[in-house]
This record gives sequence, C-alpha cells and structure tokens, in this order.
Amino acid sequence: MAVRVIPLVDQRTAALSAAVPRLCASPTGHLLDQLGRPLRDLRISVTDRCNFRCQYCMPKEVFDKDYTYLPHSALLSFEEITRLARIFLAHGVHKIRLTGGEPLLRKNLEALVAQLAALRTAEGLAPDVTLTTNASLLARKARALKDAGLNRLTVSLDALDDAVFRRMNDVDFAVTDVLKGIETAQAVGFERIKVNMVVQRGTNDDQILPMARFFRGTGVTLRFIEYMDVGATNGWCMDEVLPSSQVRERLQAEFPLVALAPGSTGETAARWGHANALGEYDPALGEVGFISSVTEAFCHDCNRARLSTEGKLYLCLFASQGWDLRSLLRAGASDAELAGAIAPMWQQRSDQYSQLRSSLPPSSASPGKRIEMSYIGG
Ligand code: SAM
Ligand code: SF4
Ligand code: SF4
Repeated sequence: MAVRVIPLVDQRTAALSAAVPRLCASPTGHLLDQLGRPLRDLRISVTDRCNFRCQYCMPKEVFDKDYTYLPHSALLSFEEITRLARIFLAHGVHKIRLTGGEPLLRKNLEALVAQLAALRTAEGLAPDVTLTTNASLLARKARALKDAGLNRLTVSLDALDDAVFRRMNDVDFAVTDVLKGIETAQAVGFERIKVNMVVQRGTNDDQILPMARFFRGTGVTLRFIEYMDVGATNGWCMDEVLPSSQVRERLQAEFPLVALAPGSTGETAARWGHANALGEYDPALGEVGFISSVTEAFCHDCNRARLSTEGKLYLCLFASQGWDLRSLLRAGASDAELAGAIAPMWQQRSDQYSQLRSSLPPSSASPGKRIEMSYIGG
C-alpha cells in the first residue's frame, strides 16, 4: 500500500485583508476579471464539518477527534450570508450553490434557502439556488428544502456497490440510504437531480458501468468527476486519475452516446446524451456529464467564486488565500462599501490553475499551500 504523506499546514488562517476603496461605484451586474470572465456563480460553504470521511476529501487520519473545526462564532450567520449574497447578485451572480462540509448538518438550513430564494439578480430574476449534499440527511430534509424554494439538487455518490461505497465514505454509510434520499427528493418534486461520482482509478472505476446502468432513464443525470489535486490531505497522485476520455470509452462500449451542446457558458460538465436505436439523443434515457478538471481544464470560462464558512472569498479552488469579507461585515461596512470592496477583487482576478497545472513551477503547485475542499466547498 502506498504511504500517504500528509502535510499539516492550516491554510485557513491565511487571509487577504479586504479594503474599501475611496470611491465605491454602484454594482452594474457586469464585473469582468482580467481574462474577461464574468462573475456568475457563487458557492457558499455553510459548514466545515461532515459526517462522512471520504478518503479523497476528509481522510480520517487528519479529520479525527483532535481536528479543530471552526468555532460557531467564526461562521457567517444566515443574515451575514444573505447580505453578502445580495451584493454578489448585484455584481452579476445568477446561481448560488450551498455546499460544505456537509451543508445539511447546518441547523435549519432551509431558513437560509428561503432567504436566498427571496433575493433577486441584477436583472430582477429569482436566483438559481442549489445544494450539493452527500444525501445522508436528505430523506429527512427534502420536503423542507423544496418548500423553502431550493431549485435544484446535486447528490454525491461514488459507488453502487455497498462495500465499495462504505469503504469510500469510511463511516460505513449504506448506498441504500443515499438512494432513499434521492427517491424522496424526486417524490417531493425535485427534477433534474444530478449525481456526482468522483472516479478514482483502482478504487471505484469498476463502478462506472453499474452507476450508468442504474441511473439511465431515471431522470437523474450522472456526472463523472476526475479526481482532483485539491487540498493538502488526500495524498493525490496522477496515477489515481482516470481521464474522462477513458470513462467515456468504457461507457460507449455499452451505451451509444451523442455529444450535447453546453447548457450554459461556464458549465463545468461536458454533456453527452444516451442515444436511441437511430443514434439520436433520447431525452427519456437522459444524459451523462464529464467534469474533466484535470485533463481538460475549463478555466477559460470559469465564472465561479467561493465564500468559505467564515466569510473568506476565494477566486479559485486552488487559491491559497481568500479575501476576508467577514472583518468588513463585522466592522460595520455598508452595502455600498462591501460592494465597492468586492468589485476590484474580481476585476483583478487572473486565476487559471488547472489550465496552467502542468507548466506551473513546483512551488505554486505545493499541496502545503492549498485549502481543503471541505472548507472551501466543491
Ligand atoms: N458534502 C457534500 C457532498 O459531498 O456532496 C458537499 C461538499 S463536497 C466537498 C462537494 C463535492 O466535491 C462532492 O461531490 C465531492 O465528491 C467533491 N470532491 C471532494 N474532494 C474532491 C476531489 N479531491 N476531487 C474531485 N472532487 C472532489
Ligand atoms: Fe464530506 Fe462531501 Fe467531503 Fe465526502 S466529499 S467528506 S461527504 S464534504
Ligand atoms: Fe476555476 Fe480555478 Fe478551477 Fe480553473 S482551477 S476552473 S480558475 S476554480
């Protein structure tokens, strides 16, 4: 068995201090970064805690009983999150995704969903409010989330084989309980649910076909995610990445697939539809997606910003530091001042880590500098 080397540097303490410019222009809804990318998607981490210990995200060796999570006072309150979300919407955000850690562990999350769903974009439209969850609490929460105005759901499930899944979540959680969560969500009216499967070569790549067979024709879109070098604790190595092109080849050996047009600019997944006997996309059979963050980087139209549990703004999944918005909030900054402080952060952004991954000097790719996925949110 390969030995995991786990650097224990706590990047959460590093922060860029946010400043209010002397002149704060009103938000126009059209912020562009240095590469001409608009700000459209805000991912908000509502907790750094999780009840799973997926080896690739929160390995037990690090996230054990001695691990120090953020204290409750450090977390943004629902009111603080909603206030920031309103400002981000004014700057052009259309879509808000709640994540974590496990977001459903945050008490009364549906109240936050309701507050966010009541906000409006710069064009006066309702934002698309979504959630990514391991589904352990979904059967219990689905109805309340739907009633609160959650638009869509993404469930993470890495295997259909119970033994493989229990090994991967490392807390002995059963596949049937995740499936129950998905069924309940469908029953209360969630449509177009997505299931994310992180593929790790040698760990769960034998689950690609069983997962595709299971979800084909169910109305659930299965998406295969390349295992990423995010964070510092998972001992990532390229050998464990199965390129999406190979995942697709395995699928195509059994199912005819046809390429579909992207749903929207900045979409992370390449979409392929199940085809009928005539070789045409059959919506009744549904589609699959491939998120090729490692082998086919999509930084060129990355429109995502991430707000950490304690209110730091990260402009890239691989950034080593975030902008400290909580200090501004708690120092009494007005909405106009907050908006004025956020605008130049995005306008100065030039991150494109995945695109440059192979050409970066070793120091910038150093895992010791990276923030954890469970802290920043997926
Ligand atoms: N706990 C929730 C869940 O698992 O859905 C939300 C947070 S989790 C960090 C968000 C997504 O990130 C999950 O779909 C997870 O599988 C994915 N993820 C975590 N670590 C990853 C890695 N190293 N590479 C690729 N995806 C990863
Ligand atoms: Fe928890 Fe999600 Fe990370 Fe798994 S991927 S440990 S469920 S935060
Ligand atoms: Fe966006 Fe950074 Fe990921 Fe590139 S590496 S797609 S810039 S989050």
